[in-house]
Amino acid sequence: MNQEIRLRLKHLLAFLAIVLFLFFYSLSSRGCSGEQEEQAVVAEQNGRDAFLPNHKTGPTIYAVTPTYARPVQKAELTRLSHVIRLVPSVFWVIVEDAEKTSTLVTNVLKRSGLENRSVQLSAKTPTNFKLQGKDPNWLKPRGVEQRNTALKWIRQHLKRSRDAGETEPPGHSLVYFMDDDNTYSTELFDEIAKIEPGKVGVWPVGLVGGLMVEKPVLNRDGLVLGFNSAWKPERPFPLDMAGFAISSDLLLSTPEAQFSYEVERGYQESEILRHLTIVHDMQPLASGCKEVLVWHTRTETPKLDAEKALQKTNKKSNDGMEV
Ligand code: UDP
Ligand code: MN
Repeated sequence: MNQEIRLRLKHLLAFLAIVLFLFFYSLSSRGCSGEQEEQAVVAEQNGRDAFLPNHKTGPTIYAVTPTYARPVQKAELTRLSHVIRLVPSVFWVIVEDAEKTSTLVTNVLKRSGLENRSVQLSAKTPTNFKLQGKDPNWLKPRGVEQRNTALKWIRQHLKRSRDAGETEPPGHSLVYFMDDDNTYSTELFDEIAKIEPGKVGVWPVGLVGGLMVEKPVLNRDGLVLGFNSAWKPERPFPLDMAGFAISSDLLLSTPEAQFSYEVERGYQESEILRHLTIVHDMQPLASGCKEVLVWHTRTETPKLDAEKALQKTNKKSNDGMEV
């Protein structure tokens, strides 16, 4: 009898031991999986940030983007913002062709985390200079008002930080005109960073001026002799806006350098550059002007016939949505 009780007791104890073991095991493994989840979140965050260089190196590059409201605007600016995210030395000066800044553009800056290295301005093109409905896009200059507004902001900003002694030694920085529809490689900004104080850098631009590539022509010593442009090669600087950047000290010492409504079509680049440099003094970049790191792409205007039909019935596909 006693033996039987002892046996049962043993079974009970063994049973209890197993239950306790399972209980603690489940507790500890739950703790572990909680930890794992936390680690996964941190890893995900690190993984995402790993793609984002967050250390600014080299001089600041002020990228000037004129932009205007149209169906593709958010797509264009999102594309650009993601390039700029990858290059911490870029400060984005975005100038809307509008009376006031828009929430659409503010949202792009917020979503891309660029609020702290951008400024959102507005400058409306005067109506007499604005393209109308079916005007071909070359009829009137585009971006003049916006780029001049950006230049004014940059000059004031640089003077303010210089006077406040914020940059020690006096900050070298660069200005690049970055239209919202072109395609930019992040490598282009490594090249821009090489521009020396007092210099204007130049490089090839793909798909522009009726050519696969418009590029500076160099002599054997690497001096810029001229350009291969087919369109209006008689221009003093026959190159595209995307094909050069300026050391900002030149802009401070030459306050009259800017864009103009008064010049012939295709002469905006020459208009600003004639104040700043001569062809032979330009600094060739992108492996002796042998590489294409920017393309003058143009986005097709989307056909929105069905949307227009919807609007006639007072409806829209994007009701309450920003597209
Ligand atoms: N742009 C503008 N207002 C306009 C037309 C154009 O601010 O009415 C901007 C546009 O967003 C772009 C730049 O000016 O950043 C040059 O315009 P576009 O790309 O149409 O010129 P293209 O490529 O034909 O030289
Ligand atoms: Mn364009």
